[in-house]
Amino acid sequence: MSITLKFLGGAGTVTGSSHMVRAGGSEVLLDAGLFQGRRDEFYRQNSTFSFNPHTVDALVLSHAHIDHCGNIPSLIKRGLRCKIYTTSATKDIARLMLEDSGKIQEEDTKYVNKINRRLGLPARGALYTKKEAAKATRAFRSISYGQRFCVAKNVFATLLDAGHILGSSIIILDIKEGKRDIKIGYAVDLGRKGLPLLNDPVAPKGLDYLILESTYGGREHAPIEEAKNKLRDAICRAVERKGKILIPSFTLERTQEVIYFLNELLEEKLIPSIPIYVDSPLATDLTKLFELHVDFLDPETRQDIRGGRSPFGLLNLRFIRGQEDSKALNADRRPMIIIAGSGMCESGRILHHLSNNIEDSRTMILVVGYMARDTLGKRIVERMRRVRIFGVEYELNAEVVVITSFSGHADKNELLDFVSGCLPLKQIFLVHGDLEQSQALADALSSSGLQAHIPAKGEEAVLL
Ligand SMILES: [Zn+2]
Ligand SMILES: [Zn+2]
Repeated sequence: MSITLKFLGGAGTVTGSSHMVRAGGSEVLLDAGLFQGRRDEFYRQNSTFSFNPHTVDALVLSHAHIDHCGNIPSLIKRGLRCKIYTTSATKDIARLMLEDSGKIQEEDTKYVNKINRRLGLPARGALYTKKEAAKATRAFRSISYGQRFCVAKNVFATLLDAGHILGSSIIILDIKEGKRDIKIGYAVDLGRKGLPLLNDPVAPKGLDYLILESTYGGREHAPIEEAKNKLRDAICRAVERKGKILIPSFTLERTQEVIYFLNELLEEKLIPSIPIYVDSPLATDLTKLFELHVDFLDPETRQDIRGGRSPFGLLNLRFIRGQEDSKALNADRRPMIIIAGSGMCESGRILHHLSNNIEDSRTMILVVGYMARDTLGKRIVERMRRVRIFGVEYELNAEVVVITSFSGHADKNELLDFVSGCLPLKQIFLVHGDLEQSQALADALSSSGLQAHIPAKGEEAVLL
């Protein structure tokens, strides 16, 4: 009998990570991420499967980002009945992320159906609802880092800290096939050394095969410490001219990292003591989970939280849930920092803060995350003279500051370093990257004498 690896999604692209390992009659899925794209393609790709979800024996989940866990509810709707193994932190974070995703699907369907009705087209159902998302998390089982457990006949899994986001894991599959034994490592996504709040990624030793992300396979990041210095300079400048500082941010991890640095800067008296608002119910709930899952944080933060000095317990910091409280910030003209989603300024409360402040030249828009093409965030980063928000045109007079050193993904050198810790390897598969980034990493690996393959979506590799 053979052992095969099929690249179902997140191959040749960044979103929709999902891979199937078949060994001696067992079927184990690694991740079930949501593919992001234009609406029709999104719906088609996320609701059709090239395998029978019914016969899958186990799903092992690396982390709670939507491009890794976001399609679990669709799989369950279509017959997935197995257990889903992950860390306890991922289990709790994924519940919030999936319910939020369900809510977005419902809202989007409502919007599409309004148009469809007008055009006389049939109504469409949501990919999944908030309720279906909540139901999906009942299949989750939590396991600790380093604990080797049997997920299917002859297939054992071990999770190691990936240092990417809270609770994130590198998955190791040990597969027994007759007298032979193979070890597959799955490092998608892989974090960086020295990220605030998190431990460094752990390199698994003695792998035969490695499935590796390549988001930044051809790039080198500035050191993370640079982020703190740039934050300091930018904030001081904006406060001096009495401007508001708007930080569009992803609710998970980036928001907490920014708070962590702000806390340090305030403690070290490197920035003035101004009010800081996290204007998002989801970010508020997610931040609570950081304090609940203290064991997943780095030793320094763990000690601080246990000693009553949580980086999220800042006196200046307020978490805002209600819409009225959020709107009340418009009338308050003092300098302040507002952290709100969505990260790419496509939806969420950041939009009303932008529309109220973008024309004021004292305002600063501090960009701390990736902005994809065709998003308002990208247009702001490109410093377009005029931008549209809620259908109204505004002049972009605010100062735009971009800090790129926040990335939670390993860069080229960090990926190469990681690979050298995993040797000996028979084969490396590069996924989770645009083609040019994957190719750049493959070239770099090849100059170190290591062969890497960039599989296409749907491709199957025979490992044994
Ligand atoms: Zn991720
Ligand atoms: Zn990812």
